[in-house]
Parts: sequence; C-alpha cells; structure tokens
Amino acid sequence: MTRKKGIAILGSTGSIGTQALDVIEAYPEYFSLEVITAGKNAELLIEQAKKYQPNTVVITEESLYQQVKDALWQESIHVYSGSESLCQVVESAEVDTVLTALVGYAGLKPTLRAIEAGKTIALANKETLVVAGELVTRLAREKGVNIYPVDSEHSAIFQCLVGEFHNPIEKIYLTASGGPFRGWSLEQLQTVKREQALKHPNWSMGAKITIDSATLMNKGLEVIEAKWLFNLRPDQIDVVVHPQSIVHSIVQFEDGSMKAQMGLPDMKLPIQFALTYPDRFTTSFPRFDFLNYPSLTFEQPDRMVFKNLDLAYEAMNLGGTAACALNAANEVVVEAFLNEQIPFLSIADINEETMRTTPSINNPVYEDFVETDKIAREAALHLVTKWKIT
Ligand code: NAD
Ligand code: MG
Repeated sequence: MTRKKGIAILGSTGSIGTQALDVIEAYPEYFSLEVITAGKNAELLIEQAKKYQPNTVVITEESLYQQVKDALWQESIHVYSGSESLCQVVESAEVDTVLTALVGYAGLKPTLRAIEAGKTIALANKETLVVAGELVTRLAREKGVNIYPVDSEHSAIFQCLVGEFHNPIEKIYLTASGGPFRGWSLEQLQTVKREQALKHPNWSMGAKITIDSATLMNKGLEVIEAKWLFNLRPDQIDVVVHPQSIVHSIVQFEDGSMKAQMGLPDMKLPIQFALTYPDRFTTSFPRFDFLNYPSLTFEQPDRMVFKNLDLAYEAMNLGGTAACALNAANEVVVEAFLNEQIPFLSIADINEETMRTTPSINNPVYEDFVETDKIAREAALHLVTKWKIT
C-alpha cells in the first residue's frame, strides 16, 4: 500500500478548516492528519486535537500556548505557538499537502515556506495570491509545486480544465451570488448594519469573507486570484452575477465552447477535490435537483454601487504592490466595520483612498510586500479614525 497523504491544515478551527476535517475523517485509509493550527480559538483547537490526534498543533496567539499545552499534556502531540511556528510545521517531512485555510495576509509567509519546502498547496487563503501572486506562482513554478484551488469558483474553473490543460483559455466567467445586498441602491446601503451584512444568502462562511461578499470585494479578490492561478490577462476575466450559486464558474475556449461546473453550494466538494485530485472520491453530499431550480439566472454586477469590484481590477492592472495595498486596507476596514466603527459604504471609500495614496513598487520582492502591507494598514487605520461613527 502507498503511504497516506499527510495533511497540514492552517486554520483548522475556521469555516474551511472544520469542513476539511470532515473530509479527511471520511477517508482514514487515504489521509493522515499531521498538523492543525488556529489563530486564537484555543478551545476548539484542543477539542480537535483530542479527537483527530494530529502529530502537531500550533496556536498562533502566544498567550494561549500554556492553555493548549496543559490541556494536551496526556496526548502525544507536539504543541507550538507563534507565527514563526506556522512556517516551521509546514516543512515537516510527514506533510505532503498544506491546506491554507487561515484568513488574510497572515497566510502569505507560511504558504511561501511550504512552497519552498516542496509541499503541494491546497489554497483557500486567496489573500496570499492577491497580495503576492507573482512571487508565489513564480516560486511554485521554480519548485515544481502544484497549487490546487479550494475557492469554489476557481475549483470550478480547474475542474473544467481537467483534460484541457493544453488548450488555451479564451475567457473565464466567475459567478457571484451578489450577496445580501444585490439590487440595493447606495441610499439603501447607507444604513446597513453588521448583522445584515453577515447574512449571506447561499453560503455559511467566516466573518471576513462574508463581509467581502456583501461588498463584492470577495469577487474582486477572486478576479486577482484567478489571474495568478490560471495565468490570465485582466481582459480574459469577467464576472457575472448568478444569485442561485449553482453554476460555480465557466471557462470559454478558443473554439467558443463553454464549460461550466455545477452543483449545490457546498465547500466540502472543492475542499475534497483539492485534496484528492486527480481522483474523485464517492460522497454522500446532497445532489442537485434541476426541478428544485426551474430557473438559473444571470445578470451584470452593479459596479457603481459596489465599487470594490472595479478597485480590484484597477489594482490588478496597476500591478506591483497595488493589490497588496488594497488587500491590507480591506482587512483593516472589514474589521472596523465588524466592530461597528465605520458605516458600510466607507469600506470601499477607504479602500480606494488607501490604494491611491500608498506608493506602489514595481517588480516587488518579499520585503516590499511586508512594507506595503504595513504602510497601507496605517493609512487605512488613520482613515478609519477620521470616519469613525461616534
Ligand atoms: P474563518 O474566519 O472561519 O477561519 C479562519 C481560520 O484561520 C481560523 O482557524 C482562525 O483561527 C485562523 N486565523 C485567523 N487569523 C489568523 C492569523 N492571523 N494567524 C493564524 N491563524 C489565523 O475563515 P474561513 O471562512 O474559513 O476562510 C479561510 C480562508 O478561505 C479565507 O482566505 C477565505 O477567503 C477563504 N475561503 C473561504 C470560503 C468559505 O466558505 N468559508 C470559501 C472560499 C474561500
Ligand atoms: Mg469563492
């Protein structure tokens, strides 16, 4: 029998992370869970460690190290803390695939280290490609490392490309649900509350991506993610709103043929495909029934109301560190919105101003991304203070 596939999950306590654990648990003969990590959720990390018995756990928040260590003293599990530990554990010889299910810029460094160490990447953490897509994909090419998408739209594109890798792509269409505020006017959006923005119509996800979906920044980030994953020009990437979230995305080839991947919205499928590619394993996930969806509809995104989408295109066209600055600003403003410090509409306004004022560096190296992230965060925080709700 061949060796089991060793998996490290960065961010095992989150929405993607917990669903990934379900997937891994379903195929014990195929996967071996080596590493799980969490930012601050020590309770759930401890519970997961006891249940799934990985070799190693990391709690990034250092003040929670003792709590996790004490709770697991009877288990033969290594416990570490701090963000440098995240980078070290992915290098372990037992790890074959690293699932990056942590949120935000924090994913960049451990992903680079995992690629450096030759590990296959199952990429959920889209911010890594948004911030430093050129650097990450270049390193992956140099190291012969595959990056398999977990994001449902990108998994859909990837699934459509299986057997077609030699055929050039003419265009892709990323589908977007439109979020909870599809069809709303700027005036209606002025008074939106946190709870309304957190209610996504079709997907249950972590708080940051749920807000990003409500502002269409998520689709903007996905446009940039697609550029790097599939090596596309900006004009080859289009977005179409599809409120039912059944068609997960579409590839158009040079003969005009279009392939779409469909199914009920359930992240377990793309998570599993990223871990089992090129195989498909039998599942009992609910199946899509056409008769429950007599009409699948498509419409244009409202780019005037949801400005973040075009800001992402602008960052992609600018290149350099522009998308890094936009991402940093967005992480700051989403947190501020979640803390009820700023109104919904200032999310895009602060993103725009930060991106425009942060100096962009051409042909950036890793340190340039670190510096740009820092400068843009400071600029965005300053604007948050200026626009704070009193
Ligand atoms: P989440 O907030 O539910 O979970 C995030 C995980 O990362 C948690 O385990 C948390 O402890 C950990 N974490 C957070 N900040 C950290 C830090 N600074 N350092 C180390 N660990 C940290 O997020 P999620 O919804 O699971 O999303 C994870 C990633 O996957 C995001 O990049 C998101 O855009 C992407 N994604 C999510 C979905 C989804 O359905 N949830 C779909 C597509 C893509
Ligand atoms: Mg997505």
